[in-house]
Amino acid sequence: MNAEATTVRTTCPYCGVGCGVLATRQPYGSVTVKGDPEHPANFGRLCSKGSALAETLSLDDRLLYPEINGTRASWDDALDLVAARFSAAIAEHGPDSVAFYVSGQILTEDYYVANKLMKGFIGSANIDTNSRLCMASSVAGHRRAFGSDTVPGTYEDLEQADLVVLTGSNLAWCHPVLFQRLEAAKAANPALRIVTIDPRRTATCALADLHLGLAPDTDVALFNGLLSYVSENGYLDEAYISRHTSGFGEALGAAGACDISRIADETGLSRQDIARFYDLAARTEKMVTVYSQGVNQSVVGTDKVNAILNVHLATGRIGRAGMGPFSVTGQPNAMGGREVGGLANMLAAHMALENPDHRSLVQSFWQSPVIAERAGLKAVEMFRAVREGKIKALWIMATNPVDSLPDADGVAEALKLCPFVVVSDVTCAADTLEFAHVALPGAAWGEKDGTVTNSERRISRQRRFLDLPGEARPDWWALSEVARRMGHREAFAYDGPAGIFREHAELSAAGNNGTRDFDIGAMADIDEEAFEELAPFQWPARSGEALGESRFFARGGFYTSDRKARFVAVTPIAPRKRERKYPLVLNTGRIRDQWHTMTRTGKTARLTSHIAEPFAEIHPEDALALGISDASLVEVRSPYGAVTVRAQISGRGRKGTVFVPMHWTDQFASRGRVDAVVAPATDPHSGQPGSKFTPVSLKAFPAH
Ligand code: SF4
Repeated sequence: MNAEATTVRTTCPYCGVGCGVLATRQPYGSVTVKGDPEHPANFGRLCSKGSALAETLSLDDRLLYPEINGTRASWDDALDLVAARFSAAIAEHGPDSVAFYVSGQILTEDYYVANKLMKGFIGSANIDTNSRLCMASSVAGHRRAFGSDTVPGTYEDLEQADLVVLTGSNLAWCHPVLFQRLEAAKAANPALRIVTIDPRRTATCALADLHLGLAPDTDVALFNGLLSYVSENGYLDEAYISRHTSGFGEALGAAGACDISRIADETGLSRQDIARFYDLAARTEKMVTVYSQGVNQSVVGTDKVNAILNVHLATGRIGRAGMGPFSVTGQPNAMGGREVGGLANMLAAHMALENPDHRSLVQSFWQSPVIAERAGLKAVEMFRAVREGKIKALWIMATNPVDSLPDADGVAEALKLCPFVVVSDVTCAADTLEFAHVALPGAAWGEKDGTVTNSERRISRQRRFLDLPGEARPDWWALSEVARRMGHREAFAYDGPAGIFREHAELSAAGNNGTRDFDIGAMADIDEEAFEELAPFQWPARSGEALGESRFFARGGFYTSDRKARFVAVTPIAPRKRERKYPLVLNTGRIRDQWHTMTRTGKTARLTSHIAEPFAEIHPEDALALGISDASLVEVRSPYGAVTVRAQISGRGRKGTVFVPMHWTDQFASRGRVDAVVAPATDPHSGQPGSKFTPVSLKAFPAH
């Protein structure tokens, strides 16, 4: 037993802020954590979840050994069976009959190996991720406008701006350390103005000079109006538009004239508030627009993103200090997954699946027998295909889709029907495990090594400071072992994350003469020692160039064929027809102290005491009309399912809307699993579900 305290620098496994953590293993095994003062994401700060990390490390509910049909098995038997069943399905039904559903929780090196196996050696693109639920609309919007999935700015921009617009982002609860940085910036710069755009008056609004509580999914009307306003009032950057963009006329035409009365009707906002916002946004050059799930999780999420990007392109406010659109990701490694192509419609290293040159480059780099040629199944489609019997073998890694995907009961039904399901996880508390033919014990935070990338493109190390318990193993290892058993020994002969990272870096630079944004070629020769010591850095990190370019596009240089950005003509969605039976709109989201389906944060009283049970936030007029009293039980029902939760009557939301947090599962609250209610409708460009707009009914429980 170690009698001396040892401290490692690592990264928080929760949100996309990607805070640095100093984890100290005390003599005799206990662990303490504090913020890393040297990490550029947080400079020593942590939020409530990060501060409680040490309290979530118990082995109480850990999956410690491989299991086959619920019975303990050896790794060899489990891996042999996985390889045999995947190989048999591919031989009999073709490569598209198998699929991987992975997670923004896994490390970049795990993601890289999973993507390589599926796209280069199985020959299908059926690998998707729960990050599809988080930021796929931003990816699609970036690619439409910039020709690449590039976040142009950096966290410092929020501090250097004179106006920060937070739209569809409850930063105070969902990215708390970034919010703390914004609070400090506002205290230091009284001229800094903050506008929040959200149907709910969230905790973030406490910092706002103006809150626009718009009607759900009307963001395109609001930002189109802003585009017209800056055009009509002389705030365009004509030089930037003509030198670096195309399609402005069409986008402006689609936006129409800036008729504030019409926009007020469409968005449900007052004319005064809209005029105040437009005037502020037009006159304040240093403007950052932060957007998150409220924008992305919509059937028009990609159009919303492009409406925001259009405004920044039209005013040339992009890639300069204190200026730019800024997508913040929900998960700790959503960005790293994007870099290695962990989405069904992307190739590795930000290369495009639809581009034959990119396919050939990746195939030759991997020396793989095949390469996927068309996009695979995105998350919601994947489970639909499972239900339709098209997927014969499915490997789910570090995610809990029977609780977290829309139409969650439908997902459970699908898994029941699937001939072969593998689940890799660290916990027995994930309900998805119930459907596993093979369960593989993964390495948890603190037990695994690798890298993650945060929302500002900063790659940081997650480092191991705990021993692997039982027979837990990292996911890259299990994937490589299966690949080798499927006959691909040399290509998957990895002996650790450093070698995988090196290969990933080399691929990012291969054939890249400045035509791709993602490039970490400077790391292609990194050895074990340097990988161990690797300090956080932002990409790009091109070979032969000094590290440190932290912004993109101030002088154009987009990744389209003519290096110009594309304005995208977008029009607001028409009001959706709704059945009389489901007159209200359900909005789901996070609360401050819980993470996803609570398998980790549910372990500590410090976090569960913030909000102890699931609730439905209901507008007082709706509650009165429906005879619902505060703290009574209510049933929220859609055509897909129902939850029974505590009523919380509040004026925070708009009349006609109901908010229910996404975290609780049946393990933590009976009938509290809100994704059983959420509709599986998706954005046509991104495939991201519209988890913030499900028509529902509400009634007191028990029903009268
Ligand atoms: Fe972790 Fe996010 Fe909190 Fe930072 S802000 S400590 S990354 S949960």
